[in-house]
Amino acid sequence: MTSRFSAFLLPRFMKNVFRKLTAPLIAVSLVMLLSACSSQQQVKTSASIIVFGTVVDITVYSDDRHHANQAIAEVENRFQTLHKEWHAWEQGGIVSKINHAIATHQAIEVSESVKAFILKSQQLTRDSLGYFDPGIGKLIKLWGFHQEQWQGPPPSEQAIQNWLEAHPSIQDIRFENQLLLSDNDQVQLDFGANAKGLAMDIAMQTLHENGIDNALVSIGGDMKARGSKNGLPWQIGIESPENPAIALAKVALQDNESIVTSGDYQRYFEWQGKRYAHIIDPKTGYPADSFSSVTVIHPDATTADAAATAILVAGPQNWLHVAEKMGITQVLCIEHDGQILQTPKMADRIEFIN
Ligand code: AMP
Ligand code: MG
Repeated sequence: MTSRFSAFLLPRFMKNVFRKLTAPLIAVSLVMLLSACSSQQQVKTSASIIVFGTVVDITVYSDDRHHANQAIAEVENRFQTLHKEWHAWEQGGIVSKINHAIATHQAIEVSESVKAFILKSQQLTRDSLGYFDPGIGKLIKLWGFHQEQWQGPPPSEQAIQNWLEAHPSIQDIRFENQLLLSDNDQVQLDFGANAKGLAMDIAMQTLHENGIDNALVSIGGDMKARGSKNGLPWQIGIESPENPAIALAKVALQDNESIVTSGDYQRYFEWQGKRYAHIIDPKTGYPADSFSSVTVIHPDATTADAAATAILVAGPQNWLHVAEKMGITQVLCIEHDGQILQTPKMADRIEFIN
């Protein structure tokens, strides 16, 4: 189960499947385009786009339905390009080309947007003190989370040790103008932990550029809001890690805020009675065994996405320090025993249900 939030106004017809820029589904198609008049001054237009193997829900409030549909079609175009450029392991995508170049000690030319995203990811890795590191693709593959079926067995201790000794990191990547090089041939990029955020930022930016001021974009349960729905705030439900069908709390998103959750319950396998989750600590080589879930609210969705992953890995001892370093002031952590840790700014606005 990977969906983490449900907008109260939207049907929860899509659960799961966002697997970052990784699922093999290539086709991007507009599967549903619904429009309905609101009783108030603006028209509501909703669309669901299948992209990256998951559903991207877009809800727009605007004066003109035709205009909203055009803006949504622009988002679809952008996603189509993004999907091609950023697929994590599919052959032909830029990430797999970069990974191949690194493994074979070659430099590779990349576009300005790819370079900008890698530089931003490097900064996020620095800020997270290395708990978030998209250069650990090889380790994620070792744990089997690059397949559609993840089932174990865990890798051998020796294999993990060998990876740790090479300590590959996205920080090993450097640029000479548009040429990308890596000082470590064990680096493999995997943007599973912040590509959803990038996609949400791009979707919202595209809507904005097309004159849309009131919208909610949802990818695999993570959301970014702009404006309001006819003057009412966007109300978001936060799932319980124990039972993701139930909302544990709710929060009203304000203009230009993103809400992102990482959860160890979203993808995992069990082996000999032990659970191994898909979020991995680059410092130990083993899956994080700290919080059940971490929810972050922040304007920039790419940062929120990286931070939710990093804070989950950092765990009860280090979460606050990492949040501060990443400039994140609104965090909610749920421990395995159900205990809740949160920052004062999150506590001020979140409303627990029950
Ligand atoms: P998220 O659901 O945003 O927390 O992203 C989790 C995904 O990011 C995993 O399925 C991996 O592909 C990748 N990942 C796992 N651990 C890390 C980490 N420590 N840093 C960066 N990416 C990671
Ligand atoms: Mg993340």
